Amino acid sequence: MTLHNKYPTAHYRALDAAHHVHPFSDTRALNAEGSRIIVKGEGVWLTDSDGNRILDGMAGLWCVNIGHGRAEVAEAVQRQMLELSYYNTFFKTSHPPAIELAALLAEIAPARFNRVFFTGSGSEANDTVLRLVRTYWATLGKPDKQVIVARRNAYHGSTVAGASLGGMGPMHKQGGLPIPGIHHIAQPYWFGEGGEMSRDEFGLWAARELEKAIDAIGEDKIAAFIAEPIQGAGGVVIPPDTYWPEVARICREREILFVSDEVICGFGRLGRWFGSEYFGTEPDLMPIAKGLSSGYLPIGGVMISDKVAAVLEETGDFNHGFTYSAHPVCCAAAIANLEIIRRDKLVERVADDIGPYLRERWLKLGDHPLVGEARMTGLVGALELVPAKPSRRRFEGDGKVGLKCRDFSFRNGLVMRAVGDTMIISPPLVISHEEADELVRLAARTLDMTHDALKAEGLM
Ligand code: PMP
Repeated sequence: MTLHNKYPTAHYRALDAAHHVHPFSDTRALNAEGSRIIVKGEGVWLTDSDGNRILDGMAGLWCVNIGHGRAEVAEAVQRQMLELSYYNTFFKTSHPPAIELAALLAEIAPARFNRVFFTGSGSEANDTVLRLVRTYWATLGKPDKQVIVARRNAYHGSTVAGASLGGMGPMHKQGGLPIPGIHHIAQPYWFGEGGEMSRDEFGLWAARELEKAIDAIGEDKIAAFIAEPIQGAGGVVIPPDTYWPEVARICREREILFVSDEVICGFGRLGRWFGSEYFGTEPDLMPIAKGLSSGYLPIGGVMISDKVAAVLEETGDFNHGFTYSAHPVCCAAAIANLEIIRRDKLVERVADDIGPYLRERWLKLGDHPLVGEARMTGLVGALELVPAKPSRRRFEGDGKVGLKCRDFSFRNGLVMRAVGDTMIISPPLVISHEEADELVRLAARTLDMTHDALKAEGLM
């Protein structure tokens, strides 16, 4: 066993507890337990500081599309660092990595997307979206079109605008969110909220909540509708087939902008370059991040359609930007990443090969007594844990079963994430057939262990 760490686990844990405040974590509880120290990543595999190998079923945080540890990206980054480690694009300057990446994105994206505004993250991309859509309408002489319609249980980031656009109750509870001017409607989560409706009926109903909101608030007040093609952090919510065509109809008929948040679904996750292409919608703006650089370095952006770009040209100064907008080294990492995705045909691979291969096996987990539904599109999937099939009733206790299952999963050597009692995966797009088999085998074992533990506790 090769240990990649300089110090023993206990040393790292003690320093981590003393000095590092973790995102989305209960600091006291985490420090009492101690964090797992990840020291190495290679392909779909992680190694922790005790030498355990773990299959990264979440591609980091839905981002490591090309897998961990690709030397080509590291080399591109090193070359760029030595050439021009930093310069900005604020004051009539530009640099080759920004220009080349922008042009490459225009090539990859649907034809009407020819421009990009760079940010450092997906959250910053959505802050940019908020200002862009309002600026768009103000430029057209309609400054009252301010309201952005979003969805409950959506995730659009953790900055003030990102978290406000998102529809996460626990995030809104802290820091006085959401900010005004954002209206949340129902999500197309049939398993959790479909009630007595069929999937298709529910999909239409959820889509028409947008139309109802537009009528209630007034089309003259609404700037945009923002949505993820498939909600990721909300629990891999794959909408019923009727949902997106109906939303697309509403967006076509009404004078509002449509923003497809492609931070997770972009760059091959659903077997197309963008999730909106998979579902056949026609967004005006597309926030991007994650798979743009496969997480090798932080970079995000907003893809801007020609329609919006033409108006913004009339705006004059757009008073917005970040020190690290179009950071040259991050751009170089993104270019190397996109070249790998193109050269290795990873998008096609998700559509035609590994996507269907893993899906077939993943859906079989739906036969497990603990699983009320197994679903997967492209390479994102979910398992709904329930006490008694075929009912969609949930366990008492607000996600405790999910956390138990997640802990078993980690112990078994598989990263699955729990959202409430929904287990989710989003593996790197390079996962091999054998690794996909292993993922499903580990997930099945995890379900068995969770099931046994729940039985022992009298919960099943
Ligand atoms: N949008 C979506 C759909 C996301 O999933 C995320 C991150 N999980 C974000 C935005 C925010 O991106 P970041 O964490 O890079 O700020």
